[in-house]
Amino acid sequence: MSDPDDFPTDDDFSTADPDPDEAPTVTCRRCDQTWDLAREFENLGVGNHAIEQFALDHKRHTGHFPDEIRTWRAVCRNCPEEAERLATDAVTRWAETHARHTRHEVEIRHARSDETTRVTADE
Ligand SMILES: [Zn+2]
Ligand SMILES: [Zn+2]
Repeated sequence: MSDPDDFPTDDDFSTADPDPDEAPTVTCRRCDQTWDLAREFENLGVGNHAIEQFALDHKRHTGHFPDEIRTWRAVCRNCPEEAERLATDAVTRWAETHARHTRHEVEIRHARSDETTRVTADE
C-alpha cells in the first residue's frame, strides 16, 4: 500500500530554476492541478507578482496555498490580528505598522525556517 499524501522531500524543491522569459507554472497536489500563469505573467509583468497573486487567490478560494509556496506570517502577541504574505518586506511592513499603531508586539514566522523575529514599536 502506498501513501500518496506523503509530503515532498527537500529534493523536490531543488529543481526550481526560474527562467525570466518563461511564464511560471504553479502546481497544487491537493487540487491535483497545474496552472500555466502565462496570462497573469503578461498582465503583471514580473513573475513573482504573478505567482504571489495566484497563490493569494488560490488561498482565498480554496483555503490553502499551492505547492512550493511558503509564506511569512506575522502574528500579534497581544490581539488576534495576523497577516500572511509571500514576501518578507510585505510581512515586515505589516508587522511594523501594526506595532507602531497599537504598541503591540508582533512575531514574524519565517517562510523557510523555524526562525521567528520579534517586531516591537520603537521607543
Ligand atoms: Zn489547491
Ligand atoms: Zn495587535
